[in-house]
Amino acid sequence: MIGAGHAGLAASRFLTERSIDHLVVDRGDVANSWRRQRWDSLRLLTPNAQSRLPGYRYDGPDPNGYMTMSEVIEFISRFARVSQAPVRTHTNVTSVTCAAYGYHVATSDGDISCRSVVLASGACNVPSVPPVKQSVPAAIEQITPFEYRDPTRLPEGTVLVVGASATGVQLASEIRRSGRPVILSVGEHVRLPRTYRGRDVLWWMDASGVWNQRYDEIDDLTRARRLPSPQLVGTPERTTLDLNALAAAGVELVGRLSAVRDGRALFSGGLRNMFSLADLKMDRLLDTFDEWAPSSGRDAEFDRPERFEPTRVPASSRLQIDLRSGEIRSIVWATGFRPDYSWLHVPVVDEKGFLRHEGGIVERPGLYALGLPVLRRRKSTFIHGIEDDARDVTDHLAGYLAGAPLRERG
Ligand SMILES: Cc1cc2nc3c(=O)[nH]c(=O)nc-3n(C[C@H](O)[C@H](O)[C@H](O)COP(=O)(O)OP(=O)(O)OC[C@H]3O[C@@H](n4cnc5c(N)ncnc54)[C@H](O)[C@@H]3O)c2cc1C
Repeated sequence: MIGAGHAGLAASRFLTERSIDHLVVDRGDVANSWRRQRWDSLRLLTPNAQSRLPGYRYDGPDPNGYMTMSEVIEFISRFARVSQAPVRTHTNVTSVTCAAYGYHVATSDGDISCRSVVLASGACNVPSVPPVKQSVPAAIEQITPFEYRDPTRLPEGTVLVVGASATGVQLASEIRRSGRPVILSVGEHVRLPRTYRGRDVLWWMDASGVWNQRYDEIDDLTRARRLPSPQLVGTPERTTLDLNALAAAGVELVGRLSAVRDGRALFSGGLRNMFSLADLKMDRLLDTFDEWAPSSGRDAEFDRPERFEPTRVPASSRLQIDLRSGEIRSIVWATGFRPDYSWLHVPVVDEKGFLRHEGGIVERPGLYALGLPVLRRRKSTFIHGIEDDARDVTDHLAGYLAGAPLRERG
C-alpha cells in the first residue's frame, strides 16, 4: 500500500480483517498531506458527522462543526492506531516496476517485493498550474496553495487569485480580510449554499444518495472526474462563501485567465453566462434534494424549500490587466491539483498524467488505486467516501491473490 492517508489506512483495515499480509508505506508521517500541504486556517469543508472511516467515526460534541487541520491529523492518526495499521513512515517510494512475481517497489528504505500494489498516494500531490505562469513578469510573486500558509507572507498590494473553486474562494476571502485588494479570476465553478433547509448541504448530498452514484452509472465520467470542488468553506458560523459573498466583501471578479501576452493578463468575458450556468446547476441539485425529501418520508423534518439570489454580475468586468503596471504584486494559483506518478514505471498512466483504471482496478493485474475523484462513486475522494470503495477494491484484490478470474465485480 503506497500512502498512509485515510485511503491507504482504510484499505489496510479491510486487508487486516481478511488476514492479508501487507505493509503501508508513506514518505512522511501518517496523514502527511494534511500535515505538509495545507494552509494554516484550513478546516474541512465536510462536517464532522461525515468524518467516518471503516469501524471508526467522529464521536465528539459538534457533529455540525468542521475540523481544523490539527484535528484532522489527530483523527486520521488515531484511526491508524486503533486499526493497528502496519505503517512504515518516512519511506519514499522511488519506483514501482513489474516483476515476475508481481511488483518491485524501490524505496528510500530498501526494496520491497510484492504480488500486489495499491496506489493510495493521493489525488492532489502537486498543484496544477497553467502554462501561462511562464509569461508572468518576474516582478510578480507567484505562489501555489502548497506554499501559501497565511496572507501575511504575501507582499502588500493587490493579489490576483486564479481559480474560484473551494481553494480559490477560501484564499480570496482570507486575503481580502487581511486588507489586501483581491481580484478573483473565475472559470467554471460549482456554487453551493453552506446550508439548505436547515441542514448542511453536504448532509443532503449524502442523505439523498447523490454522493453514492456509482462511476458506471455516470454518463460523462471523464467530466465528472474533472469537476472542480464546490465553493464551500467550513467555518464555525457555517457561512456561505459564494461569489456574491466575495463581491460584497470587496473582491473584484474577472473572467477566466485565458492568456498572458506582452505583460498583460487577458480574461474571458461572458461572466453572465458562466454565473447563470452555475446558478442553474445549483438549482437543479436543490430540486433533486426537494424531490428526495418527500420520497424519504422525512420532508416535515426540514425547513421549507428555498432558492438563492442569482450570482450578481458586476456592472463591468476588466478584460485585461497590465501586469507590468505594479498594480498586482502577487498571483495565487488556485487552479487545482493533480496526482504525481513520476515513480510509477508501469504503462498505466495516460498522456495527461491520469491513471487508467476501471473503478480502481488498474489495467495491470494486481495493481489497484484508491482515493481518486469518482473512483467508484461520486464521494470517492472524501473521507466518508472511502469505506465503500476500499471494501470493493480490497474484495477484488483478495480474489486476485486467491487466483480468481480478473473481472469487475459489482
Ligand atoms: C485543500 C484540500 C481540502 C480538502 N478538504 C476536504 C474535506 O473537507 N473533506 C474531505 O473529505 N476531503 C477533503 N479533501 C480531499 C481529500 O480528503 C484529501 O485529498 C485526502 O488527503 C485524500 O486522502 P488520500 O488518502 O487519498 O490521499 P492523501 O491524504 O494525499 O495521502 C496520500 C499519502 O501518500 C503519500 N505518498 C504519495 N506519494 C508517495 C510516494 N511516492 N512514496 C511514499 N508515499 C507517498 C503521501 O505522503 C500521503 O501521505 C481535500 C483536499 C484538498 C487538497
